[in-house]
Amino acid sequence: MPDNPLCDAVTARTQELIALTQDLIRIPTLNPPGDNYLEICEFIAARLAPRGFDTKPMRAHGAPGDSDVYPRWNLVARREGRAAGACVHFNSHIDVVEVGKGWTVDPFGGLLRDGRVYGRGSCDMKGGLAASIIAAEVFVDLHPNFVGAVEISATADEETGGYGGVAYLAEQGIFAPGRVDHVIIPEPLNKDRICLGHRGVWWAEVETHGRVGHGAMPFLGDSAVRHMGAVLAEMEARFFPALAEKRTAMPVVPAGARQSTLNINSIHGGQDELPPDFTGFPAPVVPDSCRMIIDRRFLIEEDLDTVKVEFTQMMEKVKAQRTGFRYDIRDMHQVQPTMTAQDAPVVGAVTRAVENVLGAGPEYVVSPGTYDQKHIDRIGKLKNCIAYGPGILDLAHQPDEWVGVQDMVQSAQVMALSLAELLGGQG
Ligand SMILES: [Zn+2]
Repeated sequence: MPDNPLCDAVTARTQELIALTQDLIRIPTLNPPGDNYLEICEFIAARLAPRGFDTKPMRAHGAPGDSDVYPRWNLVARREGRAAGACVHFNSHIDVVEVGKGWTVDPFGGLLRDGRVYGRGSCDMKGGLAASIIAAEVFVDLHPNFVGAVEISATADEETGGYGGVAYLAEQGIFAPGRVDHVIIPEPLNKDRICLGHRGVWWAEVETHGRVGHGAMPFLGDSAVRHMGAVLAEMEARFFPALAEKRTAMPVVPAGARQSTLNINSIHGGQDELPPDFTGFPAPVVPDSCRMIIDRRFLIEEDLDTVKVEFTQMMEKVKAQRTGFRYDIRDMHQVQPTMTAQDAPVVGAVTRAVENVLGAGPEYVVSPGTYDQKHIDRIGKLKNCIAYGPGILDLAHQPDEWVGVQDMVQSAQVMALSLAELLGGQG
């Protein structure tokens, strides 16, 4: 560990960092539906306000999921320095995913055992939120005359798209260039990796149409499921292999995602499944509709319109080979890929801080899935943004999720050193 007062001060607050992480885990913020957002925002505000932060709760009225029962609350906390200057912003999502089966510890107990804090959201990403809070507090305490501003936001709904969270804040101008200069999102990408961005997403529903008929005379109907089967055969024969050929220069981890991918999320054709308590048999009917939901992940080298055209061309090819083939494609939602340049200021500062704390430079990675950087880039128009935080990504959303205490301490040291470099740690 480097001989540095900021790093020493973070180490001295290890117990405080653990306790803060436990307190955050003990506020169950399950999403959906979006439990206890106000409670956790009030908890964070009550901690930061006495330390000189201006705290602003912001409810995303009208956002998807927002209601009086489940209001989408966010918190933006800002600590001004001695004089105006750059602003470094830490953004963490407060929501956690469902608990699921397989736990051997209390998911909301915040158990500390063998240097790990356990609980739903410990890794993704209350450990990162706690690390950024401790880093900011240490920096402000040791450099009370710093220039610029430190901001910490705690935001809703990242797990469900971020529309009631970072997207809303970006629409309100929180990430406007000039107001915020550097953004660090402490998602669990591991303490020795800097995440520069993510691939793009296109979700769509594809429907094949047929004509209903008697199952004993299927030739008098037209099976939408068989039409979909032809689509699947074409995908297996040529579409999936073609996607695998599309390679990217983005350093996506795991490396298997350094190509275009498509997941068939679901397929439903014909009659609905019979209710489990129904003891009879299905009626013989030719299915007149089959619906498939696709999740296409694309690369920074690709263009969303072309991604859609390629899929449509594949459907047209099937259509040309089959009598009566009719289909629709309905867009569900889409996200553009994003990747911050490796020479961006925040990347340089965090790189040097990682070298200082860990003795070796970071690995630069790109996430296979998306996170809130998309909104900061597209809506906020702010490009100087990375994800950097403690926790092992593979543990996110798993049973017995945990975050390592040592990882949190070292990440907090990296964040504190980054603040000192970006805001001028003199005085
Ligand atoms: Zn997360």
